[in-house]
Amino acid sequence: MFLSKFANLVKTGCVSREPKKPISRRANTGVGAPGYSKTGIRKSKNSRWRATALILLNLFMIAHIIQWRIMGRTVSPIEPSETMYTLQNGFINAGFIFFTLAILATLIFGRYICGWGCHILALQDFCGWLLKKMGLHPKPFRSRLLVYVPLIGALYMFVWPVVYRMFSAPHEPLIPKFTNHLVTTNFWQTFPTVAVAIPFLFVCGFMTVYFLGQKGFCTYACPYGGFFGLADKFSPGKIRVTPACNQCGHCTATCTSNVLVHAEVKQYGMVVDPGCMKCMDCVSVCPNDALYFGFGKPSILVPKSDAIKRNYSLTWPEEIVGVLVFFGSFLAVRGVYALVPFLMALGCATVTTFLTLKTWRLFRAKELSFYRFNLKSAGKIRKAGWAFAMFAFVWVGLNAHSGWIRYHEFLGNRAFKKVQVPDELALAEVNPARWLSAADRQNIVAGKDHLQTASKLGLFVNNETLPKLAWFEYLLGNTEQSVELLGQSAAYQKGEAKALSLYYRGAILNRLGRYDRAQTSLDQALAERDDLILARQEKGESLWQLGRRDEAISVWSDAVRRNPRLALVNNELAGAKQSLGKIDEASSHAMQADQVTPNDPLFHWMIGRRLQDLGMTGLSEKHFQRASQLNPGNQSPGGR
Ligand code: SF4
Ligand code: SF4
Ligand code: SF4
Repeated sequence: MFLSKFANLVKTGCVSREPKKPISRRANTGVGAPGYSKTGIRKSKNSRWRATALILLNLFMIAHIIQWRIMGRTVSPIEPSETMYTLQNGFINAGFIFFTLAILATLIFGRYICGWGCHILALQDFCGWLLKKMGLHPKPFRSRLLVYVPLIGALYMFVWPVVYRMFSAPHEPLIPKFTNHLVTTNFWQTFPTVAVAIPFLFVCGFMTVYFLGQKGFCTYACPYGGFFGLADKFSPGKIRVTPACNQCGHCTATCTSNVLVHAEVKQYGMVVDPGCMKCMDCVSVCPNDALYFGFGKPSILVPKSDAIKRNYSLTWPEEIVGVLVFFGSFLAVRGVYALVPFLMALGCATVTTFLTLKTWRLFRAKELSFYRFNLKSAGKIRKAGWAFAMFAFVWVGLNAHSGWIRYHEFLGNRAFKKVQVPDELALAEVNPARWLSAADRQNIVAGKDHLQTASKLGLFVNNETLPKLAWFEYLLGNTEQSVELLGQSAAYQKGEAKALSLYYRGAILNRLGRYDRAQTSLDQALAERDDLILARQEKGESLWQLGRRDEAISVWSDAVRRNPRLALVNNELAGAKQSLGKIDEASSHAMQADQVTPNDPLFHWMIGRRLQDLGMTGLSEKHFQRASQLNPGNQSPGGR
């Protein structure tokens, strides 16, 4: 029975060479015996220990979240991705410390962290176990080129931001000043929402395992694995072999990382494949106890031999098509709807690549199977084949649709960035058409078209592009539409983004003279972000217009206490005090306002316009005149 399994492994590419010596007597007699699997291979004693370690890890993660929910403060996420914030912003957080220690440990002991301390691996193992219970044994997908994705992903995530800053801001330090972010009150800030996390785990766990093998995500997507794999090559800690090995192949048949253990130990005396995660299963199942973990020469110093031939799943043309499909799929889904994070996009791209290539083969090959399903035989596509093709079409179709949406989102966002008109000027009065340059108009119209298309044809709401679309509508004079879109945006947003949408909505409602609704919107903005001073300034205007003058002064005073350099608020306070006959206080604010108001005719015009709306005509006239002096002949003073 074992022989037939081994022959099968050779056919499917799990091992490339026949074992030279007969299978050991111990292994043969083990068939069906306690402690042995049906194939006669000894069961791994380590798998229970590893499962326990991975379950404890998940329990620890859950406990971490519960502790944060109860106490409101906790240690920042112990997650390698947090290192990006250290490199970009100088935040020293728990994730950075963990990742640094993990890389250092890998440099000495090899990739133990992957095998024993990764929750994604736990998920992949769980999925693999479930599939096996269903009688489905995930087969490894072997590509020559896609194995470089994790390393490229790691370089993009952790090295590219530093290189980019080096060239884009050469005067800034390479690594920003470090600040302590070991404890956080906002534990979930850098993580996707639960609604995204669930499909993320489904794609990166179940789908990659089902289609690409038990370590599909690790092999073709995980950027951390890119660095761990590299570090493993330098580590002296390796799975090594004694002369007791008789090349039975049990180790290779057991390894879920698709390492050709029997061949590598024969050729090099140790496992050199950087995909080895030191799970120790091969050590445990070896019938001759020939394997052990030990220190010696790192694999980087061992010359590579051609004696070990791997069977790959793809031909060279398929490899090239695969890379193109992977890249296209990654670009299509990454960030689409502002929902799909980097790692999930990598996971999706691996699945898309597999499905595309397999479907391609389905139509070209005479025979094709997948797991125990016969997709095509004697040149005829079977029912299972059509089902597979249908699934692949739906998946790839969704990918293409995401790409189409992403294209419009990208162009819409790019047009948004190019619009030059300052917010203060645009918000000085409804319909700011006269302040728009020809280029602004062009970008606004094009940007609106793109974002509208993305919004109409999209399957989900993009809460990042919706406020941009609202701004385009406002600049084009479609104020009602803009207010509605900002309300919709706020309903989908959280934190700062929500506060900003509500602030803009409140500001536009103020310009429309709907002060009650404006005040409600601004109060909601301040409930999200108490430090949003612009919302305080606008709220003061709503209250002033509603006749609640003492409250307005109190809100403006609070704003200048937080930031004394607010030109408009100081002017508003000067006007308010003046109207109440408090001349000394009025002139003190007017002096402060003069000091902080930029010598810019448009800025003076903007302040004049806002004061005029508030009925502070004396002060507004002063600013209109100043605008005229600074730029005689300009349209601003005439446009009061
Ligand atoms: S490669 Fe990535 S996903 Fe796989 S075990 Fe290592 S860290 Fe986890
Ligand atoms: S190391 Fe052990 S399990 Fe692997 S081929 Fe040699 S004897 Fe067999
Ligand atoms: S080579 Fe051995 S230790 Fe390494 S992953 Fe495979 S079974 Fe585990």
